[in-house]
Amino acid sequence: MSGILSAIKLREAGFDDFTIYEKADRLGGTWRENIYPGISCDVPSHLYSYSFEPNPEWSHRFSPGSEIQAYFEGVARRHGVTPRIRFGAEITSAAFSAGRWQLETKSGDHDEVDVVIAATGVLHHPNMPAIEGLSRFGGALFHSARWDHTAQLDGRRIGIVGTGSTAVQIVSAIVDRVARLSLFQRTAQWIMPQENPAYSAEKQAEFRRRPELLEELHADTARLFAAFSNGLVDANSPQMKMIEEACRANLEQNVRDPLLLEKLRPNYRAACKRLVMSCDFYQAIQKPNAEVVTAGIERIEVEGVRTRDGRLHELDLLVLATGFRVDRFMRPMQVVGRDGLRLDTVWAQRPSAYLSISIPGFPNLFMLNGPNGPVGNFSLIEVAELQMGYVLRLVELLREGHCREISPSEDATQRFEAERTEAARHTIWGSGCRSWYLDDRGVPMSWPFTFDRFREEMAAPKIEAYQLA
Ligand SMILES: Cc1cc2nc3c(=O)[nH]c(=O)nc-3n(C[C@H](O)[C@H](O)[C@H](O)COP(=O)(O)OP(=O)(O)OC[C@H]3O[C@@H](n4cnc5c(N)ncnc54)[C@H](O)[C@@H]3O)c2cc1C
Repeated sequence: MSGILSAIKLREAGFDDFTIYEKADRLGGTWRENIYPGISCDVPSHLYSYSFEPNPEWSHRFSPGSEIQAYFEGVARRHGVTPRIRFGAEITSAAFSAGRWQLETKSGDHDEVDVVIAATGVLHHPNMPAIEGLSRFGGALFHSARWDHTAQLDGRRIGIVGTGSTAVQIVSAIVDRVARLSLFQRTAQWIMPQENPAYSAEKQAEFRRRPELLEELHADTARLFAAFSNGLVDANSPQMKMIEEACRANLEQNVRDPLLLEKLRPNYRAACKRLVMSCDFYQAIQKPNAEVVTAGIERIEVEGVRTRDGRLHELDLLVLATGFRVDRFMRPMQVVGRDGLRLDTVWAQRPSAYLSISIPGFPNLFMLNGPNGPVGNFSLIEVAELQMGYVLRLVELLREGHCREISPSEDATQRFEAERTEAARHTIWGSGCRSWYLDDRGVPMSWPFTFDRFREEMAAPKIEAYQLA
């Protein structure tokens, strides 16, 4: 998504000498890799679209992953981006030397470039849980982002580890096919009820005829989500109270068995963890062949999962829906900035960046969806579009010859990080739960200000925050 966007926007701005390096043999990133049953976006499709490429064909309010993958392939084709992608080219090293970036690929190719845009994704490196005996399991076992469609589901005993958005989507999609479904829950989740109606053929035809309707829909949904995300940054905002109420009512009105209800009731505030959207999870998990297992996993054995209460849950397939290593960003790529400064050293404690885009000592290197950017329940496409607009303004300074090198000052970055950290403590993500939003100190790794402020910051760089050389 971000790489394709960069190419389109670079070309629009008159830059034509660029290459997209993609380590895989196909574009799509997240949507190429996450092909588990039930995958869909969880922000409305008409918002999860580039603003300049509205799509009248979305089948549902939250369309499936295969449609999203096809959408990105279509956009890349129509904009002539696909031929500019060098597939099978993993960048293993980027080093700034004599004013330019020296890139090396895994196969040993070498390139020299003026500017690097890291569009390497945030939910990209699967997080493998440290559970004893994973390699001993006798059935099929994989991470949800490495789904093996040759593994049989029908009539089998399936275990799912994790209760985030992915696990919830998988449960609803497969429960009717499998003999038994065991959901291994460490933490209960608040579930926001979200209907997912299909768009009728007539509606799609109307969207095709009247593109202004699509633009309005995109703009209206963006406004709604901005209002929602403005509320996230104040744990006591009316938006958060509304969400809490909707989630509580969803749980209490839809789960009949009081014991199960208490198992599924989180002990933290709604939206503290990434809010899970579903219209049918509670129905699915109450099917007679489904079970929520809360005893805690002791170890994996050949036959299945042994929980701490001594029980063995015999399984044919175990899915690890355990999320991603969100502190990686462009790593394991070796990134070396000015005077031999290593990114691994700068980020040894935790990743940080000025406005989530650039890092002191790493000139002419810009990130899309980098550290501490907005990651709440809204469209990362919109985030990347705003960031790319900002990056282009910096690149413009290089083109116009104002400078040869641009990087944020240490001082501006430290001030930003101090303000960000302080604000992050007051957000809903810092209201007392364990989640992938939190860094090693328990501080939310996210944009803690309003989305309006993000938009304002992205509208124009503050040049005084940068060192121009
Ligand atoms: C299951 C799931 C559901 C999601 N749902 C939503 C949603 O509903 N709404 C939303 O806004 N976001 C959602 N996201 C977040 C999603 O990741 C982003 O929306 C978006 O797809 C990210 O695009 P990207 O291009 O920035 O990164 P990615 O899609 O991760 O793409 C990064 C690309 O860079 C390549 N790459 C990485 N390192 C290198 C290297 N060293 N050399 C060469 N190539 C490299 C990768 O192979 C990959 O193709 C979801 C994520 C997941 C995992």
